[in-house]
Amino acid sequence: MNIDDFRRWSHQAADWAADYHQGLRERPVRAQVAPGEIAAQIADTPPEQGEPFEAIFADFERIIPPGMTHWQHPRFFAYFPSNAALESIIAEQLAGAMSAQGMLWQTSPALTELETRMTDWLRQAVGLPGGFQGVLQDTASMATLCAMLCMRERALQGKGNRAGLAGGPRIRIYASEQTHSSIDKATWLSGIGQDNLVKIRSAPGHPWPVDVPAMAEAIRADRAAGYRPAGIIGCVGGTSIGGCDDIAALAALARAEDLYLHVDAAWAGSAMIVPEYRGLWAGIDQADSIVFNPHKWLGVPMECSAHFVRDPDLLVSTLAIQPEYLKTHGKDGLINYSEWSVTLGRRFRALKLWFLLRHQGLEGLRERMRNHVNWAQALARRIADTPGFELVTEPVLSLFSFRYAPVANGDLNALNLELLTRINDDGRTYLTQTKVGDKLAIRFQVGPFETTEEDVGQAFEVVREIAGSLQPGTSYPGNQNRV
Ligand code: PLP
Repeated sequence: MNIDDFRRWSHQAADWAADYHQGLRERPVRAQVAPGEIAAQIADTPPEQGEPFEAIFADFERIIPPGMTHWQHPRFFAYFPSNAALESIIAEQLAGAMSAQGMLWQTSPALTELETRMTDWLRQAVGLPGGFQGVLQDTASMATLCAMLCMRERALQGKGNRAGLAGGPRIRIYASEQTHSSIDKATWLSGIGQDNLVKIRSAPGHPWPVDVPAMAEAIRADRAAGYRPAGIIGCVGGTSIGGCDDIAALAALARAEDLYLHVDAAWAGSAMIVPEYRGLWAGIDQADSIVFNPHKWLGVPMECSAHFVRDPDLLVSTLAIQPEYLKTHGKDGLINYSEWSVTLGRRFRALKLWFLLRHQGLEGLRERMRNHVNWAQALARRIADTPGFELVTEPVLSLFSFRYAPVANGDLNALNLELLTRINDDGRTYLTQTKVGDKLAIRFQVGPFETTEEDVGQAFEVVREIAGSLQPGTSYPGNQNRV
């Protein structure tokens, strides 16, 4: 592509993106395609000769958007949000144009120094004390893996990287049953192993904090049995129902047992820019590390995960590696963020934050979050008051769960799975499920940037309309064979 064509097609792409955003409400939220339908439209083999860009762009417009689930859709109430504020999308374009690689300070000083500033802006924005320093990882999964590697190396006095784990003490990690599967995966990847992740029950009732005395007992029993406890993972805003641990109590336990405390607040952490929500993570200043994802609720497009550590030396001594070709022979004391990350190569993530925070300001972002929380809470009350429906879990910020329970008996799980499947096939809104005890519950979280109060109300109207078309006595098959 020559530079004139690049200019022309970049303008066309910007126009397409603006039209896409303007027209989102008219699209079905979840992709309405069958498995294989998109692949069938893509050539089986790569082209030997280049093709005109007109043909490529036309195929993009024809094939790709219908196969997308629209995370920016104002009636996307599934999972957690993955917002992309418009000013951040522009930053992404600019970063893409430079396509910089930020592994070392010298490979892009502006990338490194802006990242240092932006993580410090975020630290201040969510009310963390000055002792924390931040780094932008790609995802929360990666930040949690880094934290678990720190726990491992701290427990093994830095010998794990070199000697491996074979023949060494059996390391144990403790977490609530509400924690995300990325914690399980981090035990796989760190070599600690799933069997050494001790999941402790959460106390029944809002906001489902882990049972700290039960965790303390498990740690003591493990020590007596010859295991080596290494760390605790706390959860603020769990994925299923928004579970929040008592971080102050976990921090006290971690201190008493000389353990490392990492807090996963992947979704809820962004909401801590609103001072009145910070009670949810009271005691966070005592954590050793924290992760939250500006690429969820805050509005930074994927990927941008803020990872704060109290002791960067532990992180760097765990992850830094300096073969000759990475030595910089420059000044000491510079940050090379690849030494704070698992990956060597790293994208220019801080630009997206800079554009977003400057253009919307913290007040603008807070106002949107307060709206989301208020609308979710109002809808939860309305559902609780609607005959035939019940609230399964109370809201944590803007997440709650409910189910359709028009009759006392019968297979309500299959009925709710059928309801969910029909809602998502309908396309006007998109919701996902979870299990609370043995109850299948439908999750509802308000988070997309373009959502209005009306969208929230409309989504429930869709739920009621479709629920009304179901026959409660019928035995529905569940949706095992559907997508
Ligand atoms: N932790 C929690 C609580 C989450 O909800 C999620 C994803 O939704 C993750 C971790 C994983 O996030 P990521 O996709 O950034 O790895």
